Amino acid sequence: MNIENAGTIKNHRSREEGLIVYPVYSRRSAGLSIGINLYPDRKRCNFDCRYCEVFPFANNVTFSQTLMESGLRKTIAEASARNVPVKDICFSGNGEPSISPDFVPALLAAASVREEMAAGADLVVISNGTGLLRQDCFNFLEGVVRPPVSARLWIKLDAGSPAWYEKINGCAIGFDRLTGAVKEFSRNNECVIQTMHCSVNGESPSVEEVCAWAALTAEIAKPGNVRLVQVYGKARPSPHDPVCAALPESSLEERAGALQMAFETAGIRTSVAIYE
Ligand code: SF4
Repeated sequence: MNIENAGTIKNHRSREEGLIVYPVYSRRSAGLSIGINLYPDRKRCNFDCRYCEVFPFANNVTFSQTLMESGLRKTIAEASARNVPVKDICFSGNGEPSISPDFVPALLAAASVREEMAAGADLVVISNGTGLLRQDCFNFLEGVVRPPVSARLWIKLDAGSPAWYEKINGCAIGFDRLTGAVKEFSRNNECVIQTMHCSVNGESPSVEEVCAWAALTAEIAKPGNVRLVQVYGKARPSPHDPVCAALPESSLEERAGALQMAFETAGIRTSVAIYE
């Protein structure tokens, strides 16, 4: 895939299978995002989100830092030749980046390439937050969200209660343990919170669930280090379809509105954005 046909993603299977570096138009970055995929061979994740867009696949392509660096350089050069600004370089791909043994060296290498060729681009890590449960990874992320790397950590927080967390994220890791690590991290470090708003098995998040999520998010944001909360809807196919379904725009607005109200009550100035 090259810059010219970097488009809105219809299906991650076609985008990321076998690819380590891929340009894409990102609705959340509002421009060209260069994805780094640590898992070109198959999905690896410790969550099983019911809306996950990664379809099952398997091949023999292994991640290579050398290929990542050359792919990144080539893609940035191509964008530059077309005067297309690179909005971000984003670690996401087919699973949770922080559980890959390649994560730390790959992020540092991408940071060097960014500094050399695309200093205006953000370096983003999209994570389900479980890396924060490991002290070595917590310390690493704490280091790289600060200068000189200044990476942006986007952390998933889809639920305010263990019940909805189990329903939507299908993860065996304890909810309080995981959210406790997110609170600990955000106490002293910048991050962005991302929340998927959709129905699961025909059920929308209840009023109680939305209130619990708003209260939890406000607690996480209270120290003043959450730059933004992104509330987004289900926009692409999932191998679990039809378990999760998109909800109307008004429902996303209600959820974001509940959070804004909780923020106002607590005197929190973090912005809330909606992505349908
Ligand atoms: S954390 Fe991301 S990759 Fe993992 S299951 Fe959820 S949506 Fe898929």
